[in-house]
Amino acid sequence: MVIAIDGPAGAGKSTVARGVADALGFTYLDSGAMYRSVALAVLRAGVDPDDGEQVATIARGLELELDGDRVLVGGEDVGAEIRSPEVSATASRVSVHPGVRAALVERQRGLIAAGRYVAEGRDIGTVVSPDSPLKVYLVAGDAERARRRAAQTGEPVAGVLAAIGERDTRDRERAHGALRAAEDAVELDTTEISATEVVARVVELARERGLA
Ligand code: C5P
Repeated sequence: MVIAIDGPAGAGKSTVARGVADALGFTYLDSGAMYRSVALAVLRAGVDPDDGEQVATIARGLELELDGDRVLVGGEDVGAEIRSPEVSATASRVSVHPGVRAALVERQRGLIAAGRYVAEGRDIGTVVSPDSPLKVYLVAGDAERARRRAAQTGEPVAGVLAAIGERDTRDRERAHGALRAAEDAVELDTTEISATEVVARVVELARERGLA
């Protein structure tokens, strides 16, 4: 079973999903870390990120392990490396390919089927788990999203604003697993409320729905 948390970059998904998972004793799943790991493997292999077939072959064969907050590729901890601006931009390019999405969605469904999860991404409520009993779609103003990302990575806000704008457009416009709210998602705007308040609201929704 999964509580789905979707939304664009910098809307607060990771902080909120982690907080909800901690509060309810569920497991946190960062689906973006999977797309980022494929992007890293593609960059390391010198493969063209726009070559759907080669990238899908890498995605299918990737030895990927998500262990709590650690992300292991072939046993190597890549947690820091997958957060670089280059990997972020490449992740949104490799994630347009249907073969890549199919491979990762299958892995995500396998994990979710075996426990109680809070999963964050772009397509958890629409594709990975359309039957999820609680779907949350987080949004926030562009300037605030860029400010948050810049604070995490130390990059200038203006550059981050441009980079996330480009990423969001690609995520929204792709043919498969596009970023959008599920019809039955609860939309929360996090621009002016703290992560603690958003976590409390999602936990309340989970309890109201008898999930915890
Ligand atoms: O969430 P995060 O910023 O780590 O995701 C990196 C990229 O991975 C996104 O910009 C998006 O292109 C892709 N992604 C996706 N589907 C998901 C999660 C992430 O396409 N469920």
